[in-house]
Amino acid sequence: MRLTVIGSSGSVPGPDSPASCYLLEADDPADGRTWRVVLDLGSGASGPLQRHLPGGDLTALDAVLLSHLHADHCLDTTALYVAIKYGPAAHRGEPRDPVPLWAPTGAAERLARAYDLPEDGPGMTEQYAFGAWVDRQPVAVGPFTAEPVLVEHPVEAYGLRVTGPAEGGGTAVLAYTGDTDDCPGLDHLAADADLLLTEASFTDDLPFERGIHLSGARAGDVAARARVRAVLATHLTPWADADAVLAEVRSRFDGPADLARPGAVHHL
Ligand SMILES: [Zn+2]
Ligand SMILES: [Zn+2]
Repeated sequence: MRLTVIGSSGSVPGPDSPASCYLLEADDPADGRTWRVVLDLGSGASGPLQRHLPGGDLTALDAVLLSHLHADHCLDTTALYVAIKYGPAAHRGEPRDPVPLWAPTGAAERLARAYDLPEDGPGMTEQYAFGAWVDRQPVAVGPFTAEPVLVEHPVEAYGLRVTGPAEGGGTAVLAYTGDTDDCPGLDHLAADADLLLTEASFTDDLPFERGIHLSGARAGDVAARARVRAVLATHLTPWADADAVLAEVRSRFDGPADLARPGAVHHL
């Protein structure tokens, strides 16, 4: 499977990156077609995402998987809603089933409010088939299996452990933390993963309240404990010292580690 970083900026979009969004693609060995899902669809991500979809068509997505409902992880579902409802395929009258959208509980109401849709209407339920994550109950989308793992954040939030076909044959595991501080769930989420896509919002010396985010050092600790093969650090705030965050990760984890950079493609 292929991971394309669409947006890696933490908490708010940055000058060179939208907020969180990762495109995951894989060819289904069963039917040969390419499946495309996004992990999070945060502020600003729907713009550059179009560069990475066939024909620039946002509706080419097969599913949307949201780690949690903070704005920097979900707000551009409002843009995809418009594309599904009013885009070229809709103009051509092509029928399509609602796009599966998996998220914490309350997503249908939350996203309808985000778009300011009438409270007594269908909201986005004609465009999205909403499903609520249940901790550690995997969901299948084409050749992918996504297991949500409850993590530690001020709202209901999940890391996503995604298994899919490896490019060299067999299966590969991508572990995406979403937003979280260090917690027991991360050991299950990341165990022996081929790639840990971990938030590392800032450096460890900042006097930031615990229970919300990982520092570079704590992200490196998670990677080392879980014996992952490689790390991509992401969700750095635009004001974080990126070199220092990456140095912290590398000080705790001795495998390959880099920053998630918008536009970068990683093969698993
Ligand atoms: Zn965030
Ligand atoms: Zn958050």
